[in-house]
Amino acid sequence: MARWAIALHGGAGRSLASREASPVLRELSRATAEGADVLRRGGTALDAVERSVYLLEESGMFNAGRGACLTASRTVELEAGLCRGSDRATASVLRVTDDPHPISLARFLLERTDMVSMHGDALEALMERGSPRPRTHLVTADKRRRWEALAKAVKRRGSFVRNVHPKTFPFVLDSLKRLGVERHGTVGAVAIDTSGDVAAANSTGGHWMKLPGRIGDSPIFGAGYYADPNGAAAATGVGEHMVRSLLCRTIVERMAERGAQTAVRAGFRDLEAMLGGDNAGVIAVDARYRIGIWHNTLGMAHAYQSSSMRVPTARSGVPRRPRKP
Ligand code: ASP
Repeated sequence: MARWAIALHGGAGRSLASREASPVLRELSRATAEGADVLRRGGTALDAVERSVYLLEESGMFNAGRGACLTASRTVELEAGLCRGSDRATASVLRVTDDPHPISLARFLLERTDMVSMHGDALEALMERGSPRPRTHLVTADKRRRWEALAKAVKRRGSFVRNVHPKTFPFVLDSLKRLGVERHGTVGAVAIDTSGDVAAANSTGGHWMKLPGRIGDSPIFGAGYYADPNGAAAATGVGEHMVRSLLCRTIVERMAERGAQTAVRAGFRDLEAMLGGDNAGVIAVDARYRIGIWHNTLGMAHAYQSSSMRVPTARSGVPRRPRKP
């Protein structure tokens, strides 16, 4: 039987209460099954990761595409990136304001140009020359309400988020927690197809109250996502830490000698020695069809499926062995 495998993440952060977990895991399973279908029918790993991420962007349930968070100026600035392992072809798009599918903008850039990264407005203009794309208002009334509540909470703490960053980051996170606003929810996917090629993809709105213009790790090759002939990885969490540690590159490099899960755990040891914990989650796949998944945050919703599984497995976090007394 032809082999393939796919894994998706729905953002690292707090652990989801069971009431919230079920719809999130259902959506992740659905997107995983669709990606799996692409692979089963002989599609490429790149097709599969794009398709799965597209569905999560469309769902409005994650901090990506329709569901993306707002910046400190109450705008939306989406980022996405994707890559193929066999030739390290990659493309990413930054500051997308009114297209709910930055992952497909990145795919367009990868397929149709030689550029590896582009500003959203410029890219949309380039695409529109061929066929006009509908603009979508991604700043909804519900998001505006959440923004107001968050802005009040942050101001009460005596910090003015518009001007002071990243010193305000802990305040923002703390306020998000107290208000029950999801801290994370970025989405990503990795896959290996029947020909053995791998791919990775990520899509995000960044984080609530980010300064307009802030770029995280999600569109940065090597940091938030990476693939080469040894494997592929996609990360979620504190973007600045992923960039400083080049987390995904570090992990995939190790796959030359180790399996996906061992490589991921080794990458986390390096990350934590450098920058501490409670900052990241990763999904990965190696060239021998093995999946690796880990996070050092309380939770990371994720799902995976391989050619030997009839349906995807979805979980809100990686089960951990109880500590020895
Ligand atoms: N890594 C993303 C960022 O920093 C956020 C996330 O993964 O939730 O923009």
